[in-house]
Amino acid sequence: MAQHFLLSAASRTLSLRSIYKAGEDAAYQTFCEMRWPKTDGEAVCPRCGHDETYNIRTRRKFKCKGCHHQFSVTSGTIFASRKMDFVDLLAAICIIVNASKGVSMVQLSRDLDCQYKTAFVLAHKLREAMAQEIQTGEVLDGHVEIDGAYFGGHIRPENRKEDRKDRRLKKHQTGKRRVVVVMRERYGRTLPTVTKTEAEGVELATRNVSRMATLSADEASHWDLLHAGWDVERVNHSEVYSDHGKHTNMAESYFSRLRRMVVGQHHHVSPQYLHQYANHAAWLEDNRRTDNGTLAHIMVSNAMGAPVSRNWKGCWQRAA
Ligand SMILES: [Zn+2]
Repeated sequence: MAQHFLLSAASRTLSLRSIYKAGEDAAYQTFCEMRWPKTDGEAVCPRCGHDETYNIRTRRKFKCKGCHHQFSVTSGTIFASRKMDFVDLLAAICIIVNASKGVSMVQLSRDLDCQYKTAFVLAHKLREAMAQEIQTGEVLDGHVEIDGAYFGGHIRPENRKEDRKDRRLKKHQTGKRRVVVVMRERYGRTLPTVTKTEAEGVELATRNVSRMATLSADEASHWDLLHAGWDVERVNHSEVYSDHGKHTNMAESYFSRLRRMVVGQHHHVSPQYLHQYANHAAWLEDNRRTDNGTLAHIMVSNAMGAPVSRNWKGCWQRAA
């Protein structure tokens, strides 16, 4: 039997040892090359596009010879006003791409010896960079599987039996439970969306799936509406999981990863951030056969191309 990709040496092309051995200057150079790939890491003014700059090496700043604007390699990207060393940033990226089910922020903060809040904000900024690859706005085509799964809003049962409530009733629920609806191309992209009900998936399909595509869905009755717009294959999960090639197993694989991420690493996710974890899991699914060096490369290059995060800029600094 062929060796599984993840067990092969080809899947391991980057290590923490190599990052720290190369050191801070090499890490800084990597960021420059990712920010300005067209000029091989030579600075380009973000304000006027001029490619001749004064290099203020001691402060790692550049000054544009055209408009005298001062900037750094991270100005205008999600890493703007970072305080962490470049080598630690690269290490954080390495740890995050290596974690196939995500990594808890307490663990990341211990590995990097930084505050929990620093790790939390950094990881969420990286998730924004991943989301750019997932939420592209392009329609899905070919064979697309659609399914939904519930996350969050867990209610702990009371200690004594006589105090316990019927947790199925709406009046006893917290209102924090959400559905992740996923549309996944077989051999292609994964597109998750957070909604309040699974039935909203029909509307999502209308906006995100080509009319030429074939859909696969399970037996849930709200998917009946899909038959009006597409060729739909259905599988009744109470009887069989795969019926002569009719299945939603790609969607189930995605939920398996997201479920393990939420249960095993984050333990608790709020509805406010669930879409970011959903994008993170989709990114990991779509890149599951990519070696870790390439993944880190993609992540840094996305992050350097991503604008200053509106959600996370100065987060906690402002509140302090
Ligand atoms: Zn300039």
